[in-house]
Amino acid sequence: MREYGLYINGEWIKSATGRSFMTKNPANGETLAFIAQGVKKDVDKAAEASIKSLPMWKKFPPPKRGEILLKAAATMRRRKDELGEMVTKEMGKVIAEGKGDVQEAIDFLEYIAGEGRRLLGETTPSELPNKICLTLRQPIGVVGCITPWNFPMAVPCWKLGAALIAGNAVVFKPATLTPLCAATLIEILEEAGLPPGVLNMVTGSAEEVGEAIVQHPQIRSLSFTGGVAAGKDIYSKAASLLKRVGLELGGKNPQIVMDDAHIELAVEGVLFGAFGTSGQRCTATSRLIVHEKVFPEVKERILERTKALKIGDPLDPKIDVGPVASQEQEKKILSYINIGKKEGAGLLCGGKKLKGGIYDEGFFIAPAIFEAQHGMRITKEEIFGPVLSLIKAKDYEEAIAVANDVEYGLSSSIYTKNVYLSFQAMQDLEAGVTYINAPTIGAEVHLPFGGLKNTGNGIREAGSEAIHEFTEIKSVFVDYSGRLQKAQIAAS
Ligand code: NAP
Repeated sequence: MREYGLYINGEWIKSATGRSFMTKNPANGETLAFIAQGVKKDVDKAAEASIKSLPMWKKFPPPKRGEILLKAAATMRRRKDELGEMVTKEMGKVIAEGKGDVQEAIDFLEYIAGEGRRLLGETTPSELPNKICLTLRQPIGVVGCITPWNFPMAVPCWKLGAALIAGNAVVFKPATLTPLCAATLIEILEEAGLPPGVLNMVTGSAEEVGEAIVQHPQIRSLSFTGGVAAGKDIYSKAASLLKRVGLELGGKNPQIVMDDAHIELAVEGVLFGAFGTSGQRCTATSRLIVHEKVFPEVKERILERTKALKIGDPLDPKIDVGPVASQEQEKKILSYINIGKKEGAGLLCGGKKLKGGIYDEGFFIAPAIFEAQHGMRITKEEIFGPVLSLIKAKDYEEAIAVANDVEYGLSSSIYTKNVYLSFQAMQDLEAGVTYINAPTIGAEVHLPFGGLKNTGNGIREAGSEAIHEFTEIKSVFVDYSGRLQKAQIAAS
């Protein structure tokens, strides 16, 4: 069994306490690796290594930084099958999605490596003669990256790739549920030539390691993806330290089906959107808002298709839905199913913990569909599991009103053949991402990603925006007149 230390200053070391924890397969309880359990002292050490490496890394030409990321991407491409299997084993998503997670990481590293030859600023004239003005993008310094377990390769790459290409040094804390994927990613970046100290990883708990990163005075910026409760905690603590914070939080994503929609396509879409990754995507479809005219047909077809989904070993390519990621996840999802029943929603299928055979070894829940009324807790709160609420709407206006009446605003979708409504919906849906005739999941890395309302704080990851989260902008004025010129003050 492999044992992983903390990765600090280019070395794999034991934690200050020497303690470690196990990472396990949620499908069968198999122990996958032993991982060092970091504490505050280790975060201090990681921050120190980051600070030391910073002057060198800032001067490292950005295109050369990009070459390292490209080399890491090439390794991941070569090892994609093995890494995809690792994602599936550690987190539980089915194997096609495990490989998809790795592919997204590769795509992003390749995309952001190119930013090393851009990092664009602006040039603009001055209000004074013989003077020119320009802006430069500069690294922030040491940044803290804290990631969730649901995309254990892709989300760390989004953050680390963008932070590193911009010239920052990083202290990275991956989720406690998926440290093996994170450690493997670090090994790949190390092998690709990342200099010691530039990227440091401290595995361990939110309470100890996460808190220490948030509070460390020299970690000037935080990039966090996770739940709203943690996001609020981090944001408020960081505010008193005047840190910059990027937050990517939860979702309660709607798919609207209009009466003119291609019904089969819409059903296909929602199956993938709601039950892919066992519903544990921030962009998962959790509400299907259906025009009343086609409600009976959509309900019948989706029930038929959901009941036919194969649930089981996520490494088996014939399986559609794997386990949920942990016992805690299982408990939370089952408790929401109880809440739904208690508040009077009709449970149309699934919603039970599966038992017998392989199911007894892992955390398997049969995908659940409720017929629900908008306003019930299950239609408003993020469940983060394979639970879908069907909600009837009388027309487009009502569908949009229901879609927007939640505290989140990450992803959204509408199925319609009406071009007027499509364009209207692009404007009307309160979300950072909108899909027309496609499910709520499936972001592409060259577009900005993030959400409104409680989903975040206005920062976007990926795409051309990614670099903004990790850079400071500097304005530079170059006076080549050879005399003192005063802006805003007329020469007498
Ligand atoms: P989580 O419990 O908020 O944890 C996320 C990460 O933050 C983990 O590394 C966790 O450490 C750490 N953490 C938790 N509380 C912290 C605190 N108070 N201070 C510092 N660190 C803290 O979320 P999760 O269960 O891993 O992930 C699910 C959530 O992520 C969902 O709400 C989902 O919607 C959201 N998500 C959002 C996006 C997006 O881009 N918008 C993408 C993916 C997931 P431990 O693992 O040690 O507890």
